[in-house]
Amino acid sequence: MPESQQNEFWRDLQPIARVFQPDALPETYIQNAPIDDDRYYVPFSATVSSRPLWISPSTNRWCDILMAKEAGLVNRHYHPHEVFAYTISGKWGYLEHDWIATAGDFVYESPGEGHTLVAYDHPDPMRAIFIVKGPLIWLDEDGRSDDFFDVHHYIAMCKAHYESVGLGAAAVEALFR
Ligand code: FE
Repeated sequence: MPESQQNEFWRDLQPIARVFQPDALPETYIQNAPIDDDRYYVPFSATVSSRPLWISPSTNRWCDILMAKEAGLVNRHYHPHEVFAYTISGKWGYLEHDWIATAGDFVYESPGEGHTLVAYDHPDPMRAIFIVKGPLIWLDEDGRSDDFFDVHHYIAMCKAHYESVGLGAAAVEALFR
């Protein structure tokens, strides 16, 4: 028996018989979330793209891998709700803060923050998991709101891209929970 199994003390435990409550939705399992295959990354700005992992239309939330292969920008916007981020690779930050996130760094942004996301030149692409509750409110140069982006825009954007690269819009709907 390989050593790893000898150490797995929980081997004799039985899984829970009733896993899901009657109205609960199935889990999502995505192998290799930060995949190195451009088809999965939906262009979000001219220089930054997004791989959808989980989409909640009813709560206006989504989870994605944000990716930039070189210097990147998501222009200034305001979040009425919270944002979580975990950095997988590369180097990114906000013009409004003095920290710069690299692999392993976690970020929480409180509701009520405006910022400008930048990806730095780095040997590895910027890849970070974001959990976002929409909308993003786009701001003009004077900080005034000029448009918004929420889960419904995100879904439409992802479906159009997945159709165009042959993955199909159904692959986006499969992420709805
Ligand atoms: Fe943001």
